[in-house]
Amino acid sequence: MSATRREFLRQAAVAGGGALVAGAIPLRGMARPAVTMRPIAISSANGLRAVTKAMEMIASGSDALDAVIAGVNIVEDDPNDVTVGYGGLPNEEGVVELDSAVMHGPTHQAGAVASLRNIKNPSKVARVVMDRSDHVLIVGEGALRFARAHGFKEEDLLTEKAREAWLYWKEHLSNTDDWLPPHGPDDTDIGSLLPEPLRNEFGAFFRHTGTIHCSALDQKGNLSCVTTTSGLAFKIPGRVGDSPIIGAGLFCDNAVGSAGSTGRGEANLVNCSCRMVVEHLRTGKSPEEACLEAVKQIVEHNRLKRLQTPDGRPRFEVELYAINTRGEYGGARIYSGGKFSVHDGTTARHEPLAYLYKKEKN
Ligand code: ASP
Repeated sequence: MSATRREFLRQAAVAGGGALVAGAIPLRGMARPAVTMRPIAISSANGLRAVTKAMEMIASGSDALDAVIAGVNIVEDDPNDVTVGYGGLPNEEGVVELDSAVMHGPTHQAGAVASLRNIKNPSKVARVVMDRSDHVLIVGEGALRFARAHGFKEEDLLTEKAREAWLYWKEHLSNTDDWLPPHGPDDTDIGSLLPEPLRNEFGAFFRHTGTIHCSALDQKGNLSCVTTTSGLAFKIPGRVGDSPIIGAGLFCDNAVGSAGSTGRGEANLVNCSCRMVVEHLRTGKSPEEACLEAVKQIVEHNRLKRLQTPDGRPRFEVELYAINTRGEYGGARIYSGGKFSVHDGTTARHEPLAYLYKKEKN
């Protein structure tokens, strides 16, 4: 990074410090270089509609935070995405618990909720935590009461599809408990009686994960991000992953860049992965390099044998996504075969994630 650029970032950081409203306070001694910014929206692979919506709003002048939240709301509302919002896979008791956080670059403020039940748009509640409380994170019953107080409607978030997946998991969890899948008196191989669609979709991954992250740079050159999820499927009630934790599942610094993650939340929690990505960006690394560097650190810190393959590699996946203030973007994960969504103002498309290890089969 050039000295001039470094100086610009330093000045932008100082000038941005007191801003109350996106773009309201111009940089000291210099105009905000709006025209040189290239608006961009990136998201996890399940976010093509999210980046499309976000870019549509950014193109009509919206603040990046409004845009990314509206983008992920589409996926939160979609019962077919079993990893986010309405229709998300439930905890081990069959109850859907959602986590989400938002972070606003210009004000460097954030809001988050965790283990929130009955409200299908946790990202909207996270936004209200940021805007209408003195807190950053509200969890469980407190988060639900806070949402109710702000007029959010409660509803049953468990769809038939998610309930069947949960039941499948419960019935196949153990041979020694009392839960059994449907079977006849002569059946010995109970597993072979599974309905084909459920077996295909969930059989191989008892602990299904998934989430949506969206980061964007708007026309004013401001960054913001959001991550929202139903978390690890069939988790212990009250388990909170990385998604609502600032620095772990998302982070942005308006003078540097924005990052987000999906995948094994526990790995991001012990590595503060998204904060790490932004710090790598700060040193001048490209978004892809910054994500790869953070992925390497996650792998180096994975010391538990139960989380390692026989050759010492992680038995899990983590995806990281990032953009910088110039609108450059990229992402990385541990194994090959991943992709992310991007909209650069022309089209919404998938692009490949960089990776550390090539997978045998993609
Ligand atoms: N990161 C999410 C969590 O751990 C899950 C995921 O992205 O798959 O809750």
